[in-house]
Amino acid sequence: MMNKTRKKLWKPVSDVVGRTLSSTSRRFETYNSNTSSQSHFINSLSSSSQLQNLNLCLPHCFSQNLIFSGKNFCSESAEKVNNSACWNCNAVPKAAPFLFCESCRSVQPLHHSLDYFQIYGLDKNYEIQDENLERKYKDWQKKLHPDLVHSKSQREREYAAEQSARVIEAYRTLTNPLSRAIYILKLEGIDVNEEETVSDPELLSEIMEIREAVEDAADSKALNEILSPVQEKLIQWSMSFANAFRNQKFDEALNCIRRMTYYDRVNKEIMKKL
Ligand SMILES: [Zn+2]
Repeated sequence: MMNKTRKKLWKPVSDVVGRTLSSTSRRFETYNSNTSSQSHFINSLSSSSQLQNLNLCLPHCFSQNLIFSGKNFCSESAEKVNNSACWNCNAVPKAAPFLFCESCRSVQPLHHSLDYFQIYGLDKNYEIQDENLERKYKDWQKKLHPDLVHSKSQREREYAAEQSARVIEAYRTLTNPLSRAIYILKLEGIDVNEEETVSDPELLSEIMEIREAVEDAADSKALNEILSPVQEKLIQWSMSFANAFRNQKFDEALNCIRRMTYYDRVNKEIMKKL
């Protein structure tokens, strides 16, 4: 069932818009609030046959008009961090991320140099490959829960709180297609100005019309009818972003993000009213 649905989602855009409007809009009904739905959306992204088998190795050089953060997240530094010995027993971890010491079970301090993809053991691809993200998230949340670490030392409780906040932040960022797009560009040294506007009159008038329709909507049925095409646009631009990012067309990727930002805002506004 899932495979069937996923395949449908990743047909060409014209097919998606024409045939899977209802299934995709269901996915987005809880776009911002329901983790299960978000996870399904990621799964659908990750299973695209067009987008699989990617190996993105992007160079740290871009065209002149992009903004650089100056940060360089490289895997070497993460490996170094992951090989840090346990503060309590000096054991060296076998695998990342090093939240707990496998030898003495003590909670380890947070390492900010681990990026969100590394926290979840994912390759740094926009199309998330790992379908177990939600399972890992729940597992870590359980292990780091204050009720479970209350008997530990003050030091470890503080570490657990920091780790937990970071795991949540990473999960929220990676499960939202827009925030994941912004984040993955940031890792490449490109800061996205989310306030930057688009000067495309067609898009602006479309957004204005949607807002007016939302104001005039009499009931949830009317709102859902407005919501579906908005969410289709989000999916389309998310796919366009994936394509641009894969081909290292960062100007185009930024354009996709700006457009997703408009639809994402309208999506949130409609969701609030539903
Ligand atoms: Zn230890």
